[in-house]
Amino acid sequence: MLKLREISKSYGSKQALSSVSLELTEGIYGLLGPNGAGKSTLMNIITGNLRPDTGAVMWEEEEIRSLGVKYRSILGYAPQQQGLYDAFSGRDFLKYMAVLKGISRKHIREEVDRVLSYVNLQEAADSAIGTYSGGMKQRILIAQAVMGNPGLIILDEPTAGLDPKERVRIREKIKEISREKIILVSTHVVSDIQSIAKEIILLKEGTVIDQDTVDALCGKYKGADDLEQVYMHIFGEQEGEENASTDSL
Ligand code: ADP
Ligand code: MG
Repeated sequence: MLKLREISKSYGSKQALSSVSLELTEGIYGLLGPNGAGKSTLMNIITGNLRPDTGAVMWEEEEIRSLGVKYRSILGYAPQQQGLYDAFSGRDFLKYMAVLKGISRKHIREEVDRVLSYVNLQEAADSAIGTYSGGMKQRILIAQAVMGNPGLIILDEPTAGLDPKERVRIREKIKEISREKIILVSTHVVSDIQSIAKEIILLKEGTVIDQDTVDALCGKYKGADDLEQVYMHIFGEQEGEENASTDSL
């Protein structure tokens, strides 16, 4: 189980997260909120890349800081940012990540092949990542996140900038591997997660305002037929501005 206890984080005077507490068990969770809600900050804290000002992240009752390098084999993380590895071929990038994750030398080749076929990138494996489409780049990021079969997978906006077909493909890929794992997927696009998530975590301006199943959330927000309407109910007034900035990216 992953447990977050009263996590807060500020950047200067900007409070990005306010006392976030969560408990995640096996299954897919959607972390839903508009741009600036604090999704990436929260994910960076869960992955141990960013230190919270206060609070703790616990994996099976142990603080992740005290797990040290062991946490790296438990965790798979696909960050939001792309473009850091454009000069690598897909295969070399995965080999490099496998070494960082501590996968033993004799298993690397087999594991790289396994994740390449999982995301259907065998044919492009030896081309530079810089030549990949947006969807292919997202898939190679997801491939490295699932390498070594980690029990906790964090995917930060894995469908950002993709066309509807690619979105569906990524969604199905996530669903495929969800058994016996905790998967946290951030998005501001409801349709990415509404059919696959066990629960939705609604993050608004750094505060978790609810965590529940899609059905339960629809019941709570009067007259909502689907998650889209719940989203509009909660974030509606922010929508114009947020989407304008996303679409221009
Ligand atoms: P999301 O991923 O939901 O879009 P972020 O976690 O990236 O949200 O950002 C949350 C808030 O913190 C935003 O207001 C953002 O501008 C601010 N923020 C994020 N990273 C930094 C940073 N390195 N320095 C200053 N402010 C930041
Ligand atoms: Mg983000």
